[in-house]
Amino acid sequence: MSTVQNAIRRASKCSYLFSRHALQHAKTTYTIKRDLNLQEYQSKKLMDKYGINVQKFDVADKPEAAGQIGKTLLLDGADELVVKAQILAGGRGKGHFTSGLKGGVHLTKDPEVVTKLCKDMLGYNLTTKQTTKDGVRVSKVMVAEALDISRETYFAILMDRSYNGPVMVGSPEGGVDIEEVAEKSPDLIFKEPIDILLGIQDHQAQSMAKNLGFTGSKQEIAAKQIKCLYELFVKVDATQVEINPFGETPDGRVVCFDAKVNFDDNAEFRQRDIFAMDDQSETDPKEIEATRHNLNYIAMDGNIACLVNGAGLAMATMDIIQHHGGTPANFLDLGGGVKEDQVYEAFKIVSSDKNVESILVNIFAGIVNCATIANGIVKAFKLLNLKVPLVVRLDGNNVEEAKKILQESDLPITTASSFDDAAVKAVASVKA
Ligand code: ADP
Ligand code: MG
Repeated sequence: MSTVQNAIRRASKCSYLFSRHALQHAKTTYTIKRDLNLQEYQSKKLMDKYGINVQKFDVADKPEAAGQIGKTLLLDGADELVVKAQILAGGRGKGHFTSGLKGGVHLTKDPEVVTKLCKDMLGYNLTTKQTTKDGVRVSKVMVAEALDISRETYFAILMDRSYNGPVMVGSPEGGVDIEEVAEKSPDLIFKEPIDILLGIQDHQAQSMAKNLGFTGSKQEIAAKQIKCLYELFVKVDATQVEINPFGETPDGRVVCFDAKVNFDDNAEFRQRDIFAMDDQSETDPKEIEATRHNLNYIAMDGNIACLVNGAGLAMATMDIIQHHGGTPANFLDLGGGVKEDQVYEAFKIVSSDKNVESILVNIFAGIVNCATIANGIVKAFKLLNLKVPLVVRLDGNNVEEAKKILQESDLPITTASSFDDAAVKAVASVKA
């Protein structure tokens, strides 16, 4: 359930779903997924169409325009305003900017303050628990009507393998980091699978509303909202709809104060309007380039680049690098049908990462031909003028021919006899 950034699944259609966030924060367990992710304001526009309660808002990319939105909202009857930096990661409230400003979510009653806050948000990077330490550049802010929140709950609908379908997850302890609630008080997390063919049943929505702690007329309203959220989930081919906080106000309203919606990439053909909203400004350019060449690449923090075929082997390679005390610079699955050119492009992408101090190639060739990889390596080495140590482990299809190609190339390549040996040598090449 960890929040998920754009990660990669497309080309290999592997059974691993993939999460950059999880990859970056986990040591050996790599959870899971790639899916289109929209900004909060885009998700809220969609939600509004489905009868889901969101506050009035607008977005701006200039401080003065943000202040103007604030003025308009106040004239429209808002008592207070909330300014929210738009990035694809959660935990903004507790984040900080490179400008020195603390908090990506601010409340104020003064439109001048909105303008001032936005001057410290727009164009600066916002770092949260869910971003890398460099954070993400903020290019848009949302200015919304703030409401008094009397209680914050957590509500999400996810596609979950263990249920073979959608599951609702809710907790009366919302607003905060839900992973923490799950760890400290698991009894406060309620799960309810939904039969996708039957759809959500009234009693399911009602019991979830009750479990979330809504009482009186708010229970009925919350149950209706839950049903609307489920309808949205199904109609837009979402893999996740997460509302945190799903809150109530002192005057008896139930409102989705924050929203995170992810969409199934396989549904792109029937969700054209939604996929057209995908702005790739937050995507690592190396990842965009990799997608262009049909390579599954995810950048990470370490210094050992990995070129591997097969998502499973790619993850195992990252594990074994860590096991031997190294840190992987990326996940890269070349895929079964890889051509010499793609091997070259893969080298180009991984070696453009400034942190990379060593490259490990780990191929177990079942479908792919080792000679194709070897030729790709030689071409890349020559054309890219690579200066970092290169450790290569090849096995499988046509491996003898491949070894010959590498030997005859006279390039300073360290070969490895096994997977483990390759990782040890790659880690040593960095430490040396
Ligand atoms: P994030 O999860 O990225 O930190 P949120 O949108 O959840 O961002 O905002 C953080 C907190 O700010 C919320 O938990 C809530 O307490 C408060 N907040 C957000 N939107 C509003 C709003 N419209 N009115 C009042 N408070 C809000
Ligand atoms: Mg939130």
